[in-house]
Amino acid sequence: MTTAEQKETPLDNIESVETVDVEALNTRVTGALYKKREKIFPRRVRGTFRSLKWLVMTITLAIYYLTPWLRWDRGGEAPDQAILIDIPARRFYFFFIEIWPQEIYYITGILVIAALALFLFTSVAGRIWCGYSCPQTVWVDLFLIIERFIEGDRNARIRLEKARWSLSKIAKRVAKHAIWLVIATLTGGAWVFYFADAPTLLVDLFTLQADEIAYITVAVLTATTYTFGGMAREQVCTYMCPWPRIQSAMIDEESLIISYQKHRGEPRGRGARREGLGDCVSCNQCVVVCPMGIDIRDGMQLECISCALCVDACNGIMDKTGKPRGLIGYNILANLDTGNALQRGRLRLLRPRTIMYGGLIAVVGAIMLAALVSRPTLELNLQRDRNPLFVSLSNGDIRNGYTLKILNKIHQTRHYRLQLDGLPGATVKVIGRDDGAARFTVKADRLASFRVLISTAKANLKSETTDITLRILDQADGTSAGNDTVFRGPHK
Ligand code: SF4
Ligand code: SF4
Repeated sequence: MTTAEQKETPLDNIESVETVDVEALNTRVTGALYKKREKIFPRRVRGTFRSLKWLVMTITLAIYYLTPWLRWDRGGEAPDQAILIDIPARRFYFFFIEIWPQEIYYITGILVIAALALFLFTSVAGRIWCGYSCPQTVWVDLFLIIERFIEGDRNARIRLEKARWSLSKIAKRVAKHAIWLVIATLTGGAWVFYFADAPTLLVDLFTLQADEIAYITVAVLTATTYTFGGMAREQVCTYMCPWPRIQSAMIDEESLIISYQKHRGEPRGRGARREGLGDCVSCNQCVVVCPMGIDIRDGMQLECISCALCVDACNGIMDKTGKPRGLIGYNILANLDTGNALQRGRLRLLRPRTIMYGGLIAVVGAIMLAALVSRPTLELNLQRDRNPLFVSLSNGDIRNGYTLKILNKIHQTRHYRLQLDGLPGATVKVIGRDDGAARFTVKADRLASFRVLISTAKANLKSETTDITLRILDQADGTSAGNDTVFRGPHK
């Protein structure tokens, strides 16, 4: 048969790639203490999971960059930024929720729920967080878009890497790193907007009026984003991140992982004559698209972030060779040894582990919601003088001193009246008021401190210690806050 007569086989349609020494990508025992980094040039791939990753990347980046620009009218002098960590005022604003320093347990609750949600997702779908929405993955993807745009896809980038330095290579490298630095600066810049009024801070940053700490934060985050997203890439996941080591405690036999169906793919081999060969055509497409530079056919590996790009790559090859998709795909851990494919409906979402994580999220969420709904808008903190415990006045009366701290959490100035229970006949005087009347005014959204003196005739005291209650009443709407304390007198 002449060359012209040879029939085209499905494998001829597979786009060639620069060959990869797969062995070289695996760690070899060479006697050296450290293995030199093998630079990875992930190839572009199209498919369902790649599209899903683009979508997640767009949403997460939009949330990160745009959130500080959302406005939320709180009235009065309160900031109108929807999400704001106001460190000078020691306040955290989240739309209609306002967290005060003494309510830091809400932040703790949010972090606990976030951690439990991560545990839940990991127990169901393995490293789905790593593969789709971890900031490292998202920014590496973003940096790769720039790299591909300027230097081309995998083969072109490998050729450029090997090429001698020329004007063209310098221009491409300078352009790539310049754009990376712009992205890194925007990333660092976006972060500081969460801590101050974004439009004001933007102007201040450009007019060099912003605080020193803002510039330092932007500089540090620019450097880390550029280094981690552009330069270190997969090394952050493999060597720096503790999550791959921890997550094994959250997965069980029913958790989803990315796996290769060995029994179906092996023995692998190239060539049109497929007798005796499995479905794997050794095209290495699954390896060259992998951002971690691993070969999933070698089995489950710590480096695998479950991004599923190898699934897209292999499905494309299966389509071209006319074989069923799924040679590489999502599977449950239990099938790893048997090599069985994941059967429809086989995925068990409700398992002791997932029920426990889901239940804990529900309990912590319900507690937080209940606390949030019932949180007071007025708080009274009371401190009794300890030195002296009491004062004997010249007319024979006994006087005790107290410090009242009133927290007005609403955005309006409020007027309060002090009410004393448990000590009939006592007089109350507020230091600093001309009339000494037991009334207080606290400005909107403020904590105010007052000194109060309570006096009573010695005859009114039945014992050395008398239980009393001090209560403040909002004269406008009747809101009140009280605190129990004692009134001390001499021995009886
Ligand atoms: S598993 Fe699929 S993508 Fe990977 S080498 Fe085999 S056929 Fe190619
Ligand atoms: S092996 Fe596949 S799923 Fe794992 S990191 Fe590589 S491309 Fe992603």
